[in-house]
Amino acid sequence: MIVKIRKNSDLKDIQSLKDHLISEGFEIHESIGKTYSLFGVIGDTTKFDTRSLYAFQCVANVIRVQEPFKKVNRKFISDDSIIDVNGVKIGGDNIVVIAGPCSVESYEQVDIIAKSVKDSGAKILRGGAFKPRTSPYAYQGMGLEGLKILKEVGDKYGMPIISELMSTEYVNEFVKYVDIIQIGARNMQNFALLKELGKLDKPVLLKRGFSNTIEEWLMSAEYIMAGGNQKVILCERGIRTFEPYTRNTLDISTVPIVKKLSHLPVIIDPSHAAGHWDLVESLSMASIAAGADGLMIEVHHEPEKALSDGAQSLKPKKFKELMRKAKIVSQAVNKGI
Ligand code: PEP
Ligand code: MN
Repeated sequence: MIVKIRKNSDLKDIQSLKDHLISEGFEIHESIGKTYSLFGVIGDTTKFDTRSLYAFQCVANVIRVQEPFKKVNRKFISDDSIIDVNGVKIGGDNIVVIAGPCSVESYEQVDIIAKSVKDSGAKILRGGAFKPRTSPYAYQGMGLEGLKILKEVGDKYGMPIISELMSTEYVNEFVKYVDIIQIGARNMQNFALLKELGKLDKPVLLKRGFSNTIEEWLMSAEYIMAGGNQKVILCERGIRTFEPYTRNTLDISTVPIVKKLSHLPVIIDPSHAAGHWDLVESLSMASIAAGADGLMIEVHHEPEKALSDGAQSLKPKKFKELMRKAKIVSQAVNKGI
């Protein structure tokens, strides 16, 4: 961390800043300039609130040079983390495709969709049973019954399942039924929930909040890992911008940035990013080419009748075509799908 000291500061204030930093276990390297002075502060700043230094009047600016996340950091684990979900590997040289409906609507619906996405090469089945809807009047999901349906169909086709957990209330049921717990964009900073997930031995797919920075997202992953659960998968699903042509703006740059900063796998959800089915294929290809570890795609056999997100859901035939092209792009980046 670098601390810039204001010109003509009170020497007593500077001394108390130094005493404070030393008492916090830091080493200080001073460089005194004509217009201002700099303190190079050496030590582990992960647990230190750098903003607290602004309480000293002599402090003009504090610049952090070390990332505030530790376990998530590639400096901590240099190799890519590979998360094994019942034999399906996420990370490394694998591209994994997660597909299924936005919401579980009935056994028949999930059965039809699961069969088709499996035939096309999807490895993991998705389906929301508890839905985080913007309107309280919109479809809220089937609840536990939906989770049981997803599990039953997943077992039938030998596919691990993923579903969104919205509160700590159902943690035990999710541990019992699902293979990956999804934390949605709206709950990315639900720290009470993240702490509970830290206690589990269950993979967690953590979506980026639509108004959150990459650093905030990685700090949320750090919450889970600091609690003891190392099985974290990151998922970019688009962020909010001024552009109305898409539901969100897919931040494709997260892929190379997160790959550099962290060892955790990164999955892209082009469906929620785009909001329109006809954009999903292009965004999927771009994601694989950028180095993503996989995709999560919404598929519905009758999107016109879907109880949620029909506009962005692919029909099975379109999904099949997407998978055909995804295989070609995967080969181009030396990855297996
Ligand atoms: C979902 O995957 O169904 C979902 C609600 O996604 P998000 O949290 O990204 O909006
Ligand atoms: Mn959805």
